[in-house]
Amino acid sequence: MKLAILSRNRNLYSTRRLIEAAENRGHEVHVIDVLRCYMNIMSRKPGVHLEGNALTGFDAVIPRIGASVTAYGTAVLRQFEMMGVYTLIESVALARSRDKLRSLQLLSRKGVGLPVTGFANKPGDTKDLIKMVGGAPLVIKLLEGTQGIGVVLAETNTAAESVIEAFMGLRANILVQEFIAEAGGSDIRCLVVGGKVVAAMKRQAAEGEFRSNLHRGGSASLVKISPDERQTAVQAAKILGLSVAGVDLLRSERGPLVMEVNSSPGLEGIENASGKDVAGIIIEQLERNARPGNTATRGSKG
Ligand code: ADP
Ligand code: MG
Repeated sequence: MKLAILSRNRNLYSTRRLIEAAENRGHEVHVIDVLRCYMNIMSRKPGVHLEGNALTGFDAVIPRIGASVTAYGTAVLRQFEMMGVYTLIESVALARSRDKLRSLQLLSRKGVGLPVTGFANKPGDTKDLIKMVGGAPLVIKLLEGTQGIGVVLAETNTAAESVIEAFMGLRANILVQEFIAEAGGSDIRCLVVGGKVVAAMKRQAAEGEFRSNLHRGGSASLVKISPDERQTAVQAAKILGLSVAGVDLLRSERGPLVMEVNSSPGLEGIENASGKDVAGIIIEQLERNARPGNTATRGSKG
């Protein structure tokens, strides 16, 4: 197969591992920087160009689009879909997963376990918003934050009120969430590929920190997940329409709660913690599904 990996940096661990896994299986791999692509939105003949050439003959696209380039990256991905190229993650699913509000709304509709969460833009009544989600301690998050940046723990209602009002003042969209104290600064990352959890790890926050992100000094270890956790992770990926997803769960007193679903999960932590060849499993998923025009979103749900 001729594969395109949409990534801005071929030296990132995850990109390198995907290239390696694909090349080991005899595929031709091109790493493409989406920001340098330009598109031709001509009736019936959509195209993507790069450095003077039309990108043609691709069998599949693997998007590894950074959060800061979601909008343009999704458009380039969609353009490949319009051309009938199979994409590992479809543009609609990618866009959904990048928006925490949209993701949680879709998950809640299907009854997936979630922390009690409130959303607001300019709440006329901050106190009532806080009361609605059960009061402090609360976690306040920027809607489009990533790597733990923009996630704040407010231990009292007064602190919550000030943080909410400060974010509002910056015109940021936020969510306000029940703090799951019993998770003890840890969460479970389940790597779902093709409807199965293929690897899982527990991430534990550094001393004195509640955010378990590896970028915030968290540490990863192998974990055995329960059948309930496995089912929740698979269901979350399915609801968002992701064939590859990193589903983050909090272990709460009322069972697994989905905290977020990541459509470009990092491979380094999970491969090291689990000892699994996740990149290889992803390429095999692609081999099973990459067929011209095998895009659920094309034309209908774009
Ligand atoms: P990001 O997208 O920036 O990673 P997350 O929603 O994943 O944001 O939050 C970052 C970390 O903060 C999580 O990995 C988890 O350890 C902690 N955290 C987030 N929400 C909660 C919550 N409701 N209760 C307890 N811990 C939380
Ligand atoms: Mg996270």
